[in-house]
Amino acid sequence: MVKIFIDPGHGGDDAGAEGNGLVEKDLVLTISLEMQSILNRYQGVEVQLSREDDRAVGLSERAQMANDWEADYFISVHVNAGGGSGFESYVHPNRFEETEDKRETMHRVIVNTLDVTDRGEKEADFAVLRETEMSAILTENLFVDNDEEAEKLSNPSFLTEIAQAHVDGLVDIFDLEEVEGNDQEDDVLYIVQVGAFENEENAKRLAEELEAQGYETHIRRETRS
Ligand SMILES: [Zn+2]
Repeated sequence: MVKIFIDPGHGGDDAGAEGNGLVEKDLVLTISLEMQSILNRYQGVEVQLSREDDRAVGLSERAQMANDWEADYFISVHVNAGGGSGFESYVHPNRFEETEDKRETMHRVIVNTLDVTDRGEKEADFAVLRETEMSAILTENLFVDNDEEAEKLSNPSFLTEIAQAHVDGLVDIFDLEEVEGNDQEDDVLYIVQVGAFENEENAKRLAEELEAQGYETHIRRETRS
């Protein structure tokens, strides 16, 4: 079982980057929740988030949560500001070699998928990278204060693309496979029928009995074929 810890940056009083009406803490939460739901389609993978709503979580607390859970990989998701464009990724200067390998894959897949400016593979002494005991990466996904990129980030389907790009990287790194038959399962409904009557009153009587027992009922009129 591969354990992926996703860390949506900021939250609560800490809004993160802001620009063009966009707020980092909200964007990264959307991306992270989307990553979680996409990863649910894969087998052999467990996901935990540092926050699933808009709340403040300390940096050390985020790392500690991942350490306690014994995550295999830590991904901190951010969006950028400060004048610029594109995608960049960070690992800690004292990283393990496997952290660098994983980062190279994530970075390459994300830049290629999103087709954005590559700002480079960087390193920084960020607390979440320093205090996590497993391989860790921090991604900075486009700039909220860049008009063109803000327009992209305003589009929910682009946020899904960012999430999908991160998952594609993880699929590559951990050889994740989709749950079999998953595509069909989503569209299938199993309906339980309890009676078919020639007399409408009898149908209504049964429906009332079932409703009295707390079931939701529907009477459907059909012509005998
Ligand atoms: Zn941030």
